Amino acid sequence: MATDKDKIVNIIGAGLAGSEAAWQLATRGIKVNLFEMRPFVNTGAHETEYFSELVCSNSFGSNLPDRAAGLLKNELRILKSLLISIADQVAIPAGGALAVDRERFSKSITQILSQHPNISIIREEVTEIPSTPTIVCSGPLTSFRLSEQIKKLTGMENLFFFDAIAPIVELESIDFSKAFRGSRYDRGENEFGDYINCPFTKNEYFEFISELKNAQKIELRSFEQEIQLGVKAGVDKFFEGCLPVEILANRGELALAFGPLRPVGLKDPRGNERPFAILQLRQDNLAGSLYNMVGFQTNLTFPEQKRVFRKIPGLENATFARFGQMHRNTFLASPRLLLPTLQFKTRDDLFFAGQITGVEGYVGNIATGLIAALNMSLLLSGKKSVAIPKNTMIGSLIHYITHSELKDFQPMKANYGIMPPLSEKIKNKNERYKLYSERSIQTTSIFRDWIEANE
Ligand SMILES: Cc1cc2nc3c(=O)[nH]c(=O)nc-3n(C[C@H](O)[C@H](O)[C@H](O)COP(=O)(O)OP(=O)(O)OC[C@H]3O[C@@H](n4cnc5c(N)ncnc54)[C@H](O)[C@@H]3O)c2cc1C
Repeated sequence: MATDKDKIVNIIGAGLAGSEAAWQLATRGIKVNLFEMRPFVNTGAHETEYFSELVCSNSFGSNLPDRAAGLLKNELRILKSLLISIADQVAIPAGGALAVDRERFSKSITQILSQHPNISIIREEVTEIPSTPTIVCSGPLTSFRLSEQIKKLTGMENLFFFDAIAPIVELESIDFSKAFRGSRYDRGENEFGDYINCPFTKNEYFEFISELKNAQKIELRSFEQEIQLGVKAGVDKFFEGCLPVEILANRGELALAFGPLRPVGLKDPRGNERPFAILQLRQDNLAGSLYNMVGFQTNLTFPEQKRVFRKIPGLENATFARFGQMHRNTFLASPRLLLPTLQFKTRDDLFFAGQITGVEGYVGNIATGLIAALNMSLLLSGKKSVAIPKNTMIGSLIHYITHSELKDFQPMKANYGIMPPLSEKIKNKNERYKLYSERSIQTTSIFRDWIEANE
């Protein structure tokens, strides 16, 4: 008798999420049609026809067990991720990070998936969302025709194309001997003020502007320049006046003091004076552990963001949960549309995975591909799909994208700030990270055992 396990699953996009999802399903005996539009249609960022191509850096970030990115990888090792096992095999020396030989990485994955008897590779652009079981993994550079279909399915207002995002800082790394809480003109809802304010003296401001103007920027690719200018048809959410701060700084010495760093309506309660300029940080997650640098969209390289933004008074030791970025980034209003199982709320055999869900970074996106596939497999076996517990880094990431405030929803990468707090307060950061990691590893192992017993 035919069961749902005989159904073929469509996976749209053989990037990081799609490749992992295809392999997870295929090894569970489920047949997959893996659609990839390259090399016939290009994204503008990918350069080869291989699956799981790394479009930029060849580093997967920290491999240390008590760093957020390292923890994420260890969880994926426990859950038997194909892509992380290949990354381990083709790793190249990179200190405490996991960096790979990018060509060997994507060629190996292409070969393994192409030879798997349960996977049919279909090299074509998908322009309609199939009505049979499907995982959409088309990434931040989803083709325009598919984007149009996703807009039709979700409603115009539920698909974003943000080009510029500001960095996010961990609350506990902010120096409150310099920073203070407050809202402009005391208009906030919180009695202590809704914002954290970093005040500049005149000298500090001009020194900062000079560093900013001379900092190293990432070269924009031609398709990104086009999008900034707003000439790409079909894209409805452009730059919206959020110019990168380094461009603003180059327009005039005082442009930031009258723009994102304007101090009007704010007084430093300690001196009761108005500082020369102020950077405001706005709460970014419900737990209040992460703060967004207001108006600080930037295209500086990541090391330069760390160096230059740490010159802001109060941010000298800042830990950045996310750096600012500028590139086309197609992503869903996931808090409104997706369940923590990565299922589309109104259609249980339709899943989304990868960067289109609002998870940021190579490894986080491999993780969403894996979780979507596990749940698709449970669903086709007639079982209930499950949310991976929040105590894991993967669970925290998925919880973040499905439960954030929609108003300021922006992609997020793995970091300890999004995890549920520990039962006791631990002051030492390294000690705390170690305990978070131990808790996550334990929970991930229990989750894996549960999955294996139930599939
Ligand atoms: C310019 C740029 C630079 C980046 N740099 C980094 C970095 O250094 N480090 C990092 O961690 N992350 C980086 N990212 C984010 C990175 O894209 C993700 O971490 C990761 O690649 C996302 O995985 P994914 O599977 O969601 O998408 P992808 O890996 O992009 O895979 C999506 C796949 O879907 C295919 N596709 C799209 N539309 C269709 C369609 N209609 N039909 C069939 N196939 C389709 C694409 O060709 C692609 O192969 C960068 C992103 C961009 C755009």
